[in-house]
Amino acid sequence: MILKNLHNLKKHNFIESSSIFLKINKPILLIVIFILVLILTTSSIADNMRLLRIGTGGQTGVYYPIGKIIAQGITSSNISLEETEGNGIQKYISVAQNSGGSIDNVKGIAAGEIEVGLVQADVAAWAFHAEHVFKGNDKVQGVRAIASLYPEKFQIVTRNDAKVKSVNDLRGKHISVDEIGSGTLAVMRIVLDTHGLNEKDLKPVYLKPVFTNDKIVSGELQGFVIMAGAPMVAVSQLLGTGISLVPIAPKMASLIEAKYPYLVPGKILANIYPGIPDTPTIQVHALMVVNKTMDEELVYKITAALWSEQTLSKLKTEHPQGKSITPDAALLGVSIPLHPGAKKYYQKHPKRFNASQLQ
Ligand code: GLU
Repeated sequence: MILKNLHNLKKHNFIESSSIFLKINKPILLIVIFILVLILTTSSIADNMRLLRIGTGGQTGVYYPIGKIIAQGITSSNISLEETEGNGIQKYISVAQNSGGSIDNVKGIAAGEIEVGLVQADVAAWAFHAEHVFKGNDKVQGVRAIASLYPEKFQIVTRNDAKVKSVNDLRGKHISVDEIGSGTLAVMRIVLDTHGLNEKDLKPVYLKPVFTNDKIVSGELQGFVIMAGAPMVAVSQLLGTGISLVPIAPKMASLIEAKYPYLVPGKILANIYPGIPDTPTIQVHALMVVNKTMDEELVYKITAALWSEQTLSKLKTEHPQGKSITPDAALLGVSIPLHPGAKKYYQKHPKRFNASQLQ
């Protein structure tokens, strides 16, 4: 009897609790199901999304804003890209990342930390041949070009009161020569060496321009150098402080070119920075590069996205340097082999890209 009652009680409790369960938990159950469906759908979208990280340079340089525009172009073009040649279009999200500069970008690509990099043509050639700063490093030899973007100018910026009229006047001055990992520092060493100087003859610091601005305004630093497109924010924002650009004499520029064929004599034109006259210097092309292991069809699509009307019009309107990125200059100063995917794209559009020199 007792046992029977107990059984009834248990049964009753059970029925009650199970009905409470249904009553209370139905909405919760629905929410849980909804969340599960959401997670599953998002993760399956995420599974189909791939990240294309573009290694650039410092925040106030030119690589970074240009890289950002190209990344937007790649991200949005993959929806409307006509040139995908079937085979299913994977979706790519591209982002621009800050970095130390060209040398870091080459290393980042070799290490699989980034997929695309903006790299000076001289640095790319050193990587391809495993020479100069990459001597003995055969891991970086897989670097391949997608395109040449624009010429970068070596800009030696000093405070007027430092009275620096030539490279030799830099002796003893507090100058930022950019970070280890930048193409700028590698070129600065070449420039100093050609003038019979060593960076120890200066009072060097190793900072990106974004960190030197305040120090130049306050006078703690007397200048900084950068190999970058002109005009650039890091220089323009100092115009009110009273700055000059230090020339590299054409004779010295030619000596540099004789040894480093991708560093050629050039000029920063008058009034690119208001009030600053024509300044002779050296220049190099900025390249967009990837690893040779990258899928050919993907590189083809990236190349198509870069040269799409949509990306070009953004480049033209959103950054002063963007105007120099044009199809007819796409193959200028390319110091390493093109990736086969990029080559295929240019071969398909020979007139637009002056591609007659491609075999
Ligand atoms: N060419 C520079 C370098 O590789 C970077 C220039 C920029 O940030 O625009 O160090």
